[in-house]
Amino acid sequence: MARTVLVTGGNRGIGLAIAQAFAKQGDRVAVTHRGGGVLGAGAGGAGHQGSLFGVRCDVTDAASVDAAFTTVEEELGPVEVLVANAGITDDTLLMRMSEEQFTGVLDTNLTGAFRCAKRASKKMLRAKWGRMIFISSVVGLYGGAGQVNYAASKAGLVGVARSITRELGVRNITANVVAPGFIDTDMTAKLPEERRAEYRKAIPAGRFAEPDEVAGVVTWLASDAAGYISGAVIPVDGGLGMGH
Ligand code: NDP
Repeated sequence: MARTVLVTGGNRGIGLAIAQAFAKQGDRVAVTHRGGGVLGAGAGGAGHQGSLFGVRCDVTDAASVDAAFTTVEEELGPVEVLVANAGITDDTLLMRMSEEQFTGVLDTNLTGAFRCAKRASKKMLRAKWGRMIFISSVVGLYGGAGQVNYAASKAGLVGVARSITRELGVRNITANVVAPGFIDTDMTAKLPEERRAEYRKAIPAGRFAEPDEVAGVVTWLASDAAGYISGAVIPVDGGLGMGH
């Protein structure tokens, strides 16, 4: 059964791979962008690009989130599957981290996901069906030097998903967390090559993953086959975080 899916930050990286995987299986897929990436290029606001419907949205702004959902609802119908993927890093050691660097990352990664989940829940409750998937990180539970802000935001998503599970589980709404390890995207391309080599050594699989390897897990979590899975944290990290 085709569903309406919204992927935040779906114009590039992991979000784009997730959006394309849903589109490939025949779902109606909207992705948010902020003017860049494959969906944003030249697009002032909303519009179809291939099999995806792009809509402008900044997850740090509740009004922007609300407007994006409204546009998607008008174009594709109520959002049945939310993938809260938009995320940023702003790494630096604790002693140097400003309060703005801490709250800025939290505002996008954690509060941004909350804004989207809250907005999505209204229509999911009415439909008595919904899937929320939060893209966290191995770093949320493993920690990362220089990533107090990022790790806190990603760990917070676990509490969000588990609380939503307790609140809305009885309404046939599931909320799960996917925790990728190191994936080849713009985010990890920023890392110096020595750090990338160190990480590769620590990963049992011995390599970074492709965005598609995350996408398959996300589409599966949204499927009917995964209807009894909620509040779970699913690692896609080549074994890096074993024991979480
Ligand atoms: P990218 O940096 O390639 O893409 C980040 C996406 O988030 C972009 O689409 C970006 O939009 C969007 N975004 C950032 N801030 C906002 C905002 N305020 N409002 C709306 N959209 C925003 O990252 P990845 O694809 O690598 O990461 C995707 C998710 O996966 C993130 O949550 C990240 O933390 C997580 N992750 C990534 C890992 C990795 O190794 N790459 C590992 C574990 C988790 P725009 O193009 O407009 O900037």
